[in-house]
Amino acid sequence: MFSLSLDDVANGRAEVVDLTHDLREGTPIFPGGIPFTLEPLTQLSDGYYMNSFVSGEHTGTHVDAPAHFGKGLPTVDEIPSTNLVSQGILIDVQAKSSANSDYVLTLIDLQEWEKANGRIPAHALVILNTGWHQRWENPDRYLNRDESGALHSPGFAADAVRYLLKERNVNGVGIDTASIDPGKSTAFEAHKAVLQGGRYGVENLDNLNVLPGRGFSVVVAPMKISRGSGAPARVLAIVPR
Ligand SMILES: [Zn+2]
Repeated sequence: MFSLSLDDVANGRAEVVDLTHDLREGTPIFPGGIPFTLEPLTQLSDGYYMNSFVSGEHTGTHVDAPAHFGKGLPTVDEIPSTNLVSQGILIDVQAKSSANSDYVLTLIDLQEWEKANGRIPAHALVILNTGWHQRWENPDRYLNRDESGALHSPGFAADAVRYLLKERNVNGVGIDTASIDPGKSTAFEAHKAVLQGGRYGVENLDNLNVLPGRGFSVVVAPMKISRGSGAPARVLAIVPR
């Protein structure tokens, strides 16, 4: 059984890695989403510093709750907190993604990964490192639209997601693009497989290059928006040094 304790962090045997992009103006936004904006309310000269903000639920690094794709399914505030702390699994598909922007992780890819790296444990968060987090500062390259407006970014195939839920009982899946589906998808089959299966997705992750393939923990902390379809989240990994 894998475990890292807070003592490991205090003793320097493990470090906390922030997998979260800054919430600010000018970041990539999935079509239909609302950009983050910050409005000053007071300055220190008024007595204290304070702002208000406007944001879509699916802006920046965020969680997709089951209710995003299913009637009567849990909203973001209803995701059990025990499912928000997971063993991390990182599948590095940067080479395939840089050769093919429409690359999808299939069931066969997953089974090959397990052959090389061992079985994915129950209650894991399975994260795909497509390399797209390195495009974040360039929204055009991140969303990667063609002339017709279709997006081109890598993602999960639905059969891979169904295997992770049914055979490996994962807590959720994560990715460093704007969608767990490949960008060009209009049927959102990976979203449906995850969310209608009652688990959650995490999108727009950052800093995936510092994670090992396994042997780390992840804490996913979405804002607890009542009746929310999702929410911006702070995502932290605890990684052995
Ligand atoms: Zn989303």
